[in-house]
Amino acid sequence: PSWPEKGQIEFRDAEVRYRPDMDPSLMDFNATLESCEKIGIVGRTGAGKSTIGVALFRMVNLSKGRILIDGIDIGKIGLYELRSKLAVIPQDPFIFSGTIRANIDPFHERSDSQIWDALEKVQLKSVVSSMPFGLSTEMQQGGELSVGQRQLLCLCRALLRNSKIVLMDEATASLDYETDAIIKKTIKDNFSNSTVLTIAHRLDTIYDSNRILVVDKGRLAEFDTPTAL
Ligand code: ATP
Ligand code: MG
Repeated sequence: PSWPEKGQIEFRDAEVRYRPDMDPSLMDFNATLESCEKIGIVGRTGAGKSTIGVALFRMVNLSKGRILIDGIDIGKIGLYELRSKLAVIPQDPFIFSGTIRANIDPFHERSDSQIWDALEKVQLKSVVSSMPFGLSTEMQQGGELSVGQRQLLCLCRALLRNSKIVLMDEATASLDYETDAIIKKTIKDNFSNSTVLTIAHRLDTIYDSNRILVVDKGRLAEFDTPTAL
């Protein structure tokens, strides 16, 4: 059985500073997210929500504390292994050059039909099939994708990877309800056995979460069920 089996995440006194001369963007952060839990993350702009994801993916190292996944300190896992085990749908996803296919399945691990199935689940099948070369379309050529469509493409990648941990950072720039609804439904239908963190800008996205984590000025302000909050 490969790590992580459960997808439990523990933040222990985690602290993030983007630069040594800056105040921490996340501090004294303690929380345990249980296996398969659906967690909503809320807080004002600049509170540190995205930083939680940044720390989880080790795009910045902790200045204090630890993050454990299934009891293993992620600081001790190779970056490549860590990132290959987690799925992230960023706030404003960057699509690298190369084909649609390479963006969805960078390591050529899936068949075309698996990719089309996943594209159908995120409702991008018709978009991609109408591109000049389908899955082989170079992103520069056919690929003027909106933020929402880029998020769906990331979600498609997450589906194929079948990650135990999924982090979804809702887009702020474009309040695209249709994309949001597709993302919500896809996650609900396909990631019941994964731990899912959803950073939300609208409350309707997260009211059916198991627990809601409120971040305020880099600190965990509350962590409880929606009804208790
Ligand atoms: P939003 O709702 O606007 O997405 P957020 O809660 O996700 O906000 P973060 O992006 O986590 O907020 O930012 C937390 C703090 O860290 C802010 O003060 C922000 O300016 C700072 N910060 C974020 N990313 C960086 C970075 N790469 N370098 C320096 N400072 C950063
Ligand atoms: Mg953010």
